[in-house]
Amino acid sequence: MRESRFSFARRPAMHRHMTDANTDLAQLIRTIPDFPKPGIQFRDITTLLLDPAGFATSVARLAAAAPADIDLVAGIEARGFIFSSAMAHQLARGLVLIRKTGKLPGATVGVDYALEYGTDRVEMHADACVPGHKVLLVDDLIATGGTALAAVRLLREAGAEVVGASFVIDLPDLGGADLLRAEGIAVTTLVSYAGH
Ligand code: AMP
Repeated sequence: MRESRFSFARRPAMHRHMTDANTDLAQLIRTIPDFPKPGIQFRDITTLLLDPAGFATSVARLAAAAPADIDLVAGIEARGFIFSSAMAHQLARGLVLIRKTGKLPGATVGVDYALEYGTDRVEMHADACVPGHKVLLVDDLIATGGTALAAVRLLREAGAEVVGASFVIDLPDLGGADLLRAEGIAVTTLVSYAGH
């Protein structure tokens, strides 16, 4: 079994600028500069996933903050699937997959949304939600909120009520979490990074 690195006393203080209560988790997230293109600081959760206690703790903290009355968890492809499936398991709720276009085999509903250059689309199975279902949306990271807001529109068009949204990482300066809050959605994030 891989030894947990969840003993932070031994680890270098590489995130001294951070003020989160979750600095233990922050130390397990790796930043890769200039990926996938110059200027982007890619917040890489694969190192968090490699740490059994780190992964379990991030899921447990997000699950502990989840609204009690949810019927379903909805995960956004692809890294959102990792955390949403673990949370659905922990919370004993069903899981809705929100996917990129053309991946789902059944009849779908979809929403197009704007990217910096061009557009993208998220889809889910048309029969995934019962109207009135309360849903918790999950992804690994929220930045501008474009992806999460498209997922919210999609779930709402299917009749669901999005009561909460959970992310391991927030880039608050990009404003996405505040946009979700302005939609009346309770947002939980664990680790924040200034800038983008
Ligand atoms: P946004 O739609 O701008 O909120 O971007 C959120 C989506 O893009 C999430 O699914 C993230 O996985 C991904 N993403 C955006 N920025 C980053 C980043 N700096 N590091 C890692 N993933 C990112």
